[in-house]
Amino acid sequence: MHEATLVLGILDAAREAVEEHRAAHPEEKALRIQEIECELGLIASVEAQTLTACFELFAEGTMAQGATLSLRTRPLDCECSACGHAFALTQRRFACPNCGSEEIHFNGGHGLTLVSLRVESEE
Ligand SMILES: [Zn+2]
Repeated sequence: MHEATLVLGILDAAREAVEEHRAAHPEEKALRIQEIECELGLIASVEAQTLTACFELFAEGTMAQGATLSLRTRPLDCECSACGHAFALTQRRFACPNCGSEEIHFNGGHGLTLVSLRVESEE
């Protein structure tokens, strides 16, 4: 399941980020992740709803249990082959806004990227 791979990657990245935070702030003891903000590639063929369900499943029993997963679409950097116009797509409408050509180039747009984390220390 593609969603599972993406979610596990995010949870790994989140755990690493919390460990770094803990190393920098040793006085904070138990940390809990409150919110994980992610960007989903424009052409990632996954449903936000499925991702969220997967996240809840895999977060159980980890420090991310109960955390909110905030998803937003990552704009896709494109370049028009016809007129050379560079632009960012935020919708799946693959046409150049300058000349209307559908001959456009882009890289990526698939993954799920960790943007930020909100953590809380438990007393
Ligand atoms: Zn163009």
